[in-house]
Amino acid sequence: MGEFELIRHYFQRPGANPPGVVLGVGDDCALLQPEAGQRLAISTDMLVEGRHFFPDVDPAALGHKALAVNLSDLAAMGAQPLGCTLALALPRADEAWLAGFSQGLFALAEAEACPLVGGDTTKGPLNLCITVFGQVPPGQELRRSGARAGDEVWVSGTVGDARLALEALLGETPLPPDVLARSRQRLERPTPRLALGLALRGIASAAADVSDGLCGDLGHILAASGVGAELELGALLASSALSADLRARPRPQLLRCALAGGDDYELIFTAPAAAREAVLQAARSADTPVSRLGRITTEADLRWRDESGQPLDLALASFDHFA
Ligand code: ADP
Ligand code: MG
Repeated sequence: MGEFELIRHYFQRPGANPPGVVLGVGDDCALLQPEAGQRLAISTDMLVEGRHFFPDVDPAALGHKALAVNLSDLAAMGAQPLGCTLALALPRADEAWLAGFSQGLFALAEAEACPLVGGDTTKGPLNLCITVFGQVPPGQELRRSGARAGDEVWVSGTVGDARLALEALLGETPLPPDVLARSRQRLERPTPRLALGLALRGIASAAADVSDGLCGDLGHILAASGVGAELELGALLASSALSADLRARPRPQLLRCALAGGDDYELIFTAPAAAREAVLQAARSADTPVSRLGRITTEADLRWRDESGQPLDLALASFDHFA
């Protein structure tokens, strides 16, 4: 199968484009049309075999995840998807792999109205790079720099399960098959929180997505905003942010996975205390649970208190590719 046949067969879908896409796959460029007055939001994430995924991962799950991690960045900005491009290096034209990969990618692209509008295909070690384009009205984007002392800190969904699955798949911890199956779903098929990101426009003061771990990604918000935070372990333990599977793990593992795990693709965000009801309403409208973990402080530091109010010493850094 030649390059152009491959592109046509696996990456070009017939049918009408949504309003934001004037021209999709097939020409020298795609043409996107944001709604009048809106700004383009652009983000790129690359996935490399052996670094971000196992060589034998289900190709449909990989297609899903490659787009999901990018959509998660749009969600964290409060942006609405317009379309995406895919740059793909493949060692060979493996049709079963391409069929699975494109099925996983297109299923999420259609569900989240983010059509594939172009890309590049080349031979080489397996490497995937998706760029997403979204739109957001000026001033309504959820930047990392907007957290203020007194704001409250929230997280969506559940954190830690992806890391739990990774530890099991790396042979570091045995897990019962049903627990592994559930946590592996979180690792391989993360849910981008797009509806929540949109619902939090005008409510959240800052947001980021949890790709490198809750503490690390909150740290990015704190650094960008020039503030600190005081979080309550008791609030986390009492919240819905921990799955029953993670709660059943030994405490060091629970803390490591939940606080420094990564690959969760939840939103960590801040909002003024007066907006607490609005946050809960946004979460309901987006059908996404949220948990309140603590508050923003003026001292530039992230501190945790344990259940008895004592400072918790967590030598937990976020996952850093170059550490
Ligand atoms: P060019 O020579 O201008 O780089 P290509 O031959 O690489 O064009 O691509 C032809 C068309 O197919 C372009 O519209 C490009 O965006 C699209 N395309 C190539 N690879 C992919 C891919 N993996 N996914 C989606 N579209 C692709
Ligand atoms: Mg090209």
